[in-house]
Amino acid sequence: MKKLPLHWKIIIGLTLGLIYGVIGASAGWGAFTTDWIAPFGIIFMRLLKLIAVPLVLASLITGVASLSDLKKLSRIGGKTISIYIATTAISVSIGLVIVNGLNPGDKVPEQMKIKLQQTYEQDATSRTGSAQAVKDRGPLQAIVDMVPSNFFDSASSNRNMLQVVFVAIFLGIGLIQVPKEKAKPVLDFFEGFNDIIIKLVDIIMLMAPYGVFALIAQTINKVAGDDLSQVMELLGALGYYMLAVILGLILHMLGTYTAVLKLFSKMPLKTFYKGIAPAQLLAFSTSSSGATLPVTMECCEENLGVSEEVSSFVLPLGATINMDGTALYQAVAAVFIAQTLGMELNLGAQLTIILTAVLASIGTAAVPGAGIIMLVIILEAVGVPSAGIALILGVDRILDMIRTTVNVTGDASVAIAVASTENQLVIPKQS
Ligand code: ASP
Repeated sequence: MKKLPLHWKIIIGLTLGLIYGVIGASAGWGAFTTDWIAPFGIIFMRLLKLIAVPLVLASLITGVASLSDLKKLSRIGGKTISIYIATTAISVSIGLVIVNGLNPGDKVPEQMKIKLQQTYEQDATSRTGSAQAVKDRGPLQAIVDMVPSNFFDSASSNRNMLQVVFVAIFLGIGLIQVPKEKAKPVLDFFEGFNDIIIKLVDIIMLMAPYGVFALIAQTINKVAGDDLSQVMELLGALGYYMLAVILGLILHMLGTYTAVLKLFSKMPLKTFYKGIAPAQLLAFSTSSSGATLPVTMECCEENLGVSEEVSSFVLPLGATINMDGTALYQAVAAVFIAQTLGMELNLGAQLTIILTAVLASIGTAAVPGAGIIMLVIILEAVGVPSAGIALILGVDRILDMIRTTVNVTGDASVAIAVASTENQLVIPKQS
């Protein structure tokens, strides 16, 4: 019998998790799910995060060391960052057009507005506090943060992925500059280490269908509690807002990424989506592009033919700074909150949103729920009260799953574009 492809197994896990979650929420199995199901999701996510730092380190060091000259590195870097910023700006613009066209803020019933603000007031205050800490930093702090003073410090948290990227590139540059016989044992070590980590990704992915089941079941459990009717009420009131975000995300994915793939490569769309599906499904279930990174790298290299040199540079960078889905969502959410509070945002304010959303998405951590914290900064930039995030907190987790999927798809499509222009893409034959 032909073996079922991995993405189908994950889809089955996801669907069963969804069914279990809904039944569990209506039957009041909350405590059981938290005690006996959720831990498997946590273990799965921890395993993925566990290998992210060593994977980036080993693959990037070997990647940079295999570059013949440093000019190539800066060329790849320049291309990557330019496409990342351009696609993010496009995604924000798509979001703005949709939210201004649909006007979802006018469709929330007055009573619901008051209820939402009361229910989520406290939660909103704590997130506003986290955003304030980010805002108080100087303009160059993001660049300062990229350079660690102690490598073990950086490697101790996946939030410091950019520091790990920095160290790996730095070490790789050193490796190119020393005599070959000195570099060889170090390079051999990292090459071997890299192969081992890739094997570990395969082993962890065997657990993916079960991990995804547990993650989805627990997400529904957390969102719904033991009262599904409350979620239904929330979904009804915020339905138009969610529609605006989701519509924007779908348009960006189908429009912008198709254009990027067609413009820069000959990758057939079917091959692309088939190859990247496991990473997309994982992004959807974990809501974290950071945790998905090892799988995104594997999908790009093994299923889509991107060279390791390009993928190990473009993807870790993308997971941390390229978040088109997040930026689009932040723009829609900012305008939605303004509309709900009865505030007009003129053209100047909308342009400010484009700029701040691009910057805020770059600064958003690749973890669940980070996007809404950075949203506070955008709201403050256009003079909308940040307490307004209380209005959208109830459905944020659901949108987080979808925007993270778009974030990861964006990283992968740019990796293909860059690899193709560098002649480092071997498009697999379609099966
Ligand atoms: N969860 C998103 C990610 O990891 C970030 C966010 O928008 O909250 O890509």
